[in-house]
Amino acid sequence: MKIHEYQAKQLFREAGVAVPRGFVADTPQTAVDAFCKLATPLAVVKAQIHAGGRGKGTVADVPGQRGVQRVRSREEAEQAAGNLLGHRLVTAQTPPEGKTVHRVLVEEGRAIAREFYLGVAMDRAAGGPVLIASAEGGMEIEHIAATMPERIHRAPLDADCGLRAHQIRTLAWRLGLPPAALRAAEPFVQALVAMFLRHDCSLVEINPLVLTPEQDLLALDGKISFDPSALFRHPELAGLRDLTEEDPAEVRAGEAGLSYVKLEGNIGCLVNGAGLAMSTMDVIQLHGGQPANFLDVGGGANVQQVTEALRILIGDASVRAVLVNIFGGIMQCTTIAHALVEACRSVHFNVPLVVRLEGTEVEEGCRILAANGLDILTATDLTDAAKKAVAAAKAPQNK
Ligand code: ADP
Ligand code: MG
Repeated sequence: MKIHEYQAKQLFREAGVAVPRGFVADTPQTAVDAFCKLATPLAVVKAQIHAGGRGKGTVADVPGQRGVQRVRSREEAEQAAGNLLGHRLVTAQTPPEGKTVHRVLVEEGRAIAREFYLGVAMDRAAGGPVLIASAEGGMEIEHIAATMPERIHRAPLDADCGLRAHQIRTLAWRLGLPPAALRAAEPFVQALVAMFLRHDCSLVEINPLVLTPEQDLLALDGKISFDPSALFRHPELAGLRDLTEEDPAEVRAGEAGLSYVKLEGNIGCLVNGAGLAMSTMDVIQLHGGQPANFLDVGGGANVQQVTEALRILIGDASVRAVLVNIFGGIMQCTTIAHALVEACRSVHFNVPLVVRLEGTEVEEGCRILAANGLDILTATDLTDAAKKAVAAAKAPQNK
């Protein structure tokens, strides 16, 4: 789960990670109020979307407007907020049509002596969190990793003990932090690491982390992702979720207890078990097709879940055929057959449906499907199912 910069900065503030003063606004007038409250000669109006690259981002219908804008007066604050709110911001990290801005963060403009990158990420290879830092702040870390990997410093940290003081000193030395800033660095980095662990984050990124002319360290940007599997331990974080930033079909699937990820192709897949879903997608591609989604209804799916899954697939305008691939293990094939019959009665099917059942009570399951006269293509095995779905998706049809 991702959150906005203004929310990340609130968590930073609570954890003791220094951030600039700022207020969030959802109208040009509240942006002006925020500018007045800050009472600084220079403020920055920042579009709040779940994507980076805002500083260089553009607004299609307002030439010259950027996603991060320096403002020096009430009028400039009002104009920048008006140009961003309700408009689509396009950055290197958004879809080509951009993302609609619903809020802006108005914060004090700070003088910058140097910019750094500082992050904590879950490193699967190391089996734990790792602190990542670079003196090349402001640039995307992926770009630094690709072009000058030697400028990235990594310090693995112990999830129980956190980071050790000598690791922070080594890091500060490698970044070339002046001795006067070293005193600020230790509590800053320790607070960041503690926050990462306390909230079960999968990523916390500060880019840029800045050194001010007064030798203070400040998080000028903030990005946080939480491990979705740990969210049940953090009911306090639920309110930070912004559903307008998420794919509506994925939100719907999540509410029904389904694992669904939208993809680029045109064959909708309904499968039980993540491994089977992955191999179904592979076999579709092997036979020249492209899956429209990953969808795992789980081992114990019921009629409601299967119906909802079919609704989601059919609601996707790019789907030209649906492939149901079920292995009756914990769930019997008769259960899924009954669920399919029920679902086909209540969902209007406008694309070909290919069904492959295997496992416990498969004969009875197939008999139920046949007896109910459903307009489906049955398949004998996965290869047969994939070939039929690929052919059906390619055939001309009146959707
Ligand atoms: P993004 O990463 O989406 O482009 P940032 O928050 O990193 O957005 O802002 C882009 C740039 O704008 C920063 O690298 C920094 O130079 C400048 N900037 C951002 N916030 C401030 C601020 N409060 N004061 C001064 N400059 C800022
Ligand atoms: Mg940034």
